[in-house]
Amino acid sequence: AKPDAILTAKDVTRSFGGIQAVDVEYVEFQRGAITALIGPNGAGKTTFFNLLTGFDRADGGTWTFERTDMANKSAAWVARHGMVRTFQLTKALSRLTVLDNMLLAAKRQRGESFVGSLVKPAWAGQEKRNTERAMDILSRFKLDAKAADFAGSLSGGQRKLLEMARALMTNPKIIMLDEPMAGVNPALVQSLLGHIQALRDEGMTVIFVEHDMHAVRHISEWVVVMAEGRIVAEGPADSIMENQAVVDAYLGAR
Ligand code: ATP
Repeated sequence: AKPDAILTAKDVTRSFGGIQAVDVEYVEFQRGAITALIGPNGAGKTTFFNLLTGFDRADGGTWTFERTDMANKSAAWVARHGMVRTFQLTKALSRLTVLDNMLLAAKRQRGESFVGSLVKPAWAGQEKRNTERAMDILSRFKLDAKAADFAGSLSGGQRKLLEMARALMTNPKIIMLDEPMAGVNPALVQSLLGHIQALRDEGMTVIFVEHDMHAVRHISEWVVVMAEGRIVAEGPADSIMENQAVVDAYLGAR
């Protein structure tokens, strides 16, 4: 057991028809570290993220964040308790401005409906604070100048940054990134990695799914390997790449 686990999952299962997508006996994630979750296509990484963050329901199992039971709570509840995730395909609404996407993310994560957020008379003080916070977060990603632009006008890399920015609106303790580097111009990868390390340096716990092994090796303190729904290996990045179970997991998928 790691000395300082922040998130612990036990016997978590999820199947779709005959496919056992997730069958995780035990895994724990260390506080304040960057952990990569890797594995071949279809290994169950995204499904595991969906379960942990309340976007899907597990067939069985438990998971606790600090001492709080998180199993099968709503996504809004999970976000309110400090755990947010991003998606492989970004969720920003292309016909809203960048700033409105930020404000909407904060409302959604508080569990307010989109329509409700439009009709409810806004509490001006809260709205102003949210806007200030949104602009602060956007500026760290150099997106503040784009605040009034439609999200749809952003480049692929900027959309990934907006996705991270949206996740930060609720001040999470754990941020889970689903393929943050996918579809990003290679010139931007280095800057994205720097942003992820900066979150860790500020004390956030980062868990990310990634296929880019250079990225994984470059920033992860720990690597967890999934194959066919199970955790097949874990360890420090450098040693995990030479691990036989890891090599088998990847070759077995071809
Ligand atoms: P990738 O790296 O390609 O994103 P992954 O490791 O994230 O893959 P998942 O997307 O979690 O893998 O898929 C795990 C398995 O569960 C796959 O066999 C997939 O086809 C199946 N699966 C996932 N979601 C569903 C669903 N909603 N309905 C049916 N099957 C699903």
